[in-house]
Amino acid sequence: MHLATHEPVVSIDLLRRLDGPGPRYTSYPTADRFVEAFGAVQYERALRARAEGAAGGAGAAALSVYVHIPFCESVCYYCACNKVVTRDHTRSGPYLDALEREIALHVAVLGARQPVTQLHLGGGTPTFFNDAELTRLMQMLRGAFGITASAEVSIEVDPRTADPQRLQHLRDLGFNRLSFGVQDFDPAVQRAVHRVQSEESVRELVVAAREIGFRSTNVDLIYGLPQQTADSFARTVQQVCQLRPDRIALYAYAHLPQRFKPQRRIDAALLPLASQKITMLSQAIDGFVGAGYTYIGMDHFALPDDSLAIAKRQGRLHRNFQGYSTQPDCDLIGLGVSAIGRLGATYSQNAKTLEDYNDALNQRQFPTVRGMELTRDDLLRRSVIMALMCQGRVEFESIEVAHLIDFRETFGAELGTLVNLQASGLVELHPDAIEVTALGWYFVRSIAMVFDRHLQADRAREHFSRVI
Ligand code: SF4
Repeated sequence: MHLATHEPVVSIDLLRRLDGPGPRYTSYPTADRFVEAFGAVQYERALRARAEGAAGGAGAAALSVYVHIPFCESVCYYCACNKVVTRDHTRSGPYLDALEREIALHVAVLGARQPVTQLHLGGGTPTFFNDAELTRLMQMLRGAFGITASAEVSIEVDPRTADPQRLQHLRDLGFNRLSFGVQDFDPAVQRAVHRVQSEESVRELVVAAREIGFRSTNVDLIYGLPQQTADSFARTVQQVCQLRPDRIALYAYAHLPQRFKPQRRIDAALLPLASQKITMLSQAIDGFVGAGYTYIGMDHFALPDDSLAIAKRQGRLHRNFQGYSTQPDCDLIGLGVSAIGRLGATYSQNAKTLEDYNDALNQRQFPTVRGMELTRDDLLRRSVIMALMCQGRVEFESIEVAHLIDFRETFGAELGTLVNLQASGLVELHPDAIEVTALGWYFVRSIAMVFDRHLQADRAREHFSRVI
């Protein structure tokens, strides 16, 4: 891996100017816009509309299903997820009972055996469940939904809870994709974030996953953690390149201890400076691209023969709550505490505490507590943002035909803002299209943010309150 001996793929100066915090656009509008006025009644209505649409001749469009398993045996100090930290494994059974009730509520409206082309188990730690519990969960899901033969069936695996035998069991249950949480291989960093796992154990699992025949293996990394330095993270990048997972997700750590309690256990004095974080990102991009990975967009890299890299080349990428995907946009049913779903022009989220989640299900009610119905403007902007993030190109005509608008008239202000990004080499503005450049893919979030009406309205409000 070459570091600092050649021109970086993306200049440090551009990263410093443009790689600020911002939404990841796994949905538009983003989940922080959900409101409590959208609850169980509205969710059930959206579900019925889907069922009636299918019965009315539209046919049952494919579904995606996400299941959230909240338990973790120990807490990672950087954690910003919804989880329950416990070593008490007797909690799994009642949680599976609750999931069974939630699944039954869906089947009662949709009917059984709806075709599912994508199933993902996330957490928390899905592998907190033992083999028998995972078997029960998959039986429940297969009984309720028609998981197609070619479906993507994926699971997040905490390397500390798995061995090659467990991976074989997951394969036998029909999982064909694995995602390992690695974050960093440096022992000092691992101690500082309370997540110690050796490189050897991860290597053993990645090798086993390949031998067992998983279609794709992903490794998650985080930069900006305590005790990380540009050199130490460059070593982790190099180690990951040697492991050669099919996909790599590289996230920035955001230290928000007021919002996420576990982060209060991180000594802020040990965090790398913003300038060091930029160097880590730049070196990681160089390392992965230099090792032959394709940059997909946002935080994702994939080997050129991985389906995600092929989909990017062919302009067939999609984006959903799990990030980039090769699966066409479809309804998503989110099961489990805090899970997010998407049905037609709605988003919804389940109760965030186990108590509220269980209470609703004990009363045979959907545990939805927040969500939103998208307006016409939301749907229009979602199309533009997803076209930018997935195809790297917005054809004005296709948006105009789908949404009955005049693109230049509707987005005059946004096109004006893009002129600045054009000057930085991130986009090309054509008479009939916006095109993201090769460099622009690294900042596609900043380009998308220009079209986020909610974000721009917040900024205008902030600016207004600062100036008065
Ligand atoms: S980061 Fe993942 S494994 Fe660690 S505490 Fe949070 S949810 Fe659990």
